[in-house]
Amino acid sequence: MTATPFPADAIEQANRDLAEAGPETILRWAVKRFHPRLLMATAFGVEGCCVIHLLAGIEPGVRFINLETGYQFPETLALRERIKTRYGIAVEYVHPEQTVAEYEAEHGGPLHGLRPDQCCFDRKIRPLRRALERIAPLAWISAIRKDQTADRGKAGVVQWDAKFGLVKVNPLLNWTKKDVWAFALRHDVPYNPLHDRDYPSIGCWPCTRPVAPGEDDRAGRWAGKVKKECGLHVIEQQDGGGI
Ligand code: SF4
Repeated sequence: MTATPFPADAIEQANRDLAEAGPETILRWAVKRFHPRLLMATAFGVEGCCVIHLLAGIEPGVRFINLETGYQFPETLALRERIKTRYGIAVEYVHPEQTVAEYEAEHGGPLHGLRPDQCCFDRKIRPLRRALERIAPLAWISAIRKDQTADRGKAGVVQWDAKFGLVKVNPLLNWTKKDVWAFALRHDVPYNPLHDRDYPSIGCWPCTRPVAPGEDDRAGRWAGKVKKECGLHVIEQQDGGGI
């Protein structure tokens, strides 16, 4: 297992201590333990916006990044500005090495239709890895919920992220979709207007479509393909578990 400043037994203990805790308590713990080497990567889904709202009241100096693939919806980019206005938090864009035009020219067209794993790797994972090397966080926060996918159902509130060599903190893990929306509406949290147009889960525009009544919330992501995750939140079992 990769060396960690937060060993496995400390992660287990934190998980036990925080198993029944609410998001604010979990975030206060993460800030106390890891800030200023605490990072949040957000795609500006309503869950991430709730976490930003909470962190704005706890420690607005936490570093926030967004993987700006060049294929995000205009509504998503506009939401970044609304968050900046509301909270004074400027989410930092992490860009791929190549613009969309350069990337598509090199590959003879877009890859998102034919080779989405390659496209996500080039435009999300690789830029993220470079950003992590530069920022050197010890821990990062995600806004995943247990009930979103089978993989996410296996996550812990605090876990070792073997893929990126970081402690991962999942403050909303035990919230339901109803909990998230009740919080967002109660606190007037800025959120992506696409959520009101049948996009429960929002990624890049070529790989996201609205869902029909009764469909799974993530049915609109990479619709018609086996792919359900971009690779950031996929569990990698290692030394007894981790993400
Ligand atoms: S979600 Fe689609 S467009 Fe965005 S990086 Fe992945 S494959 Fe490319």
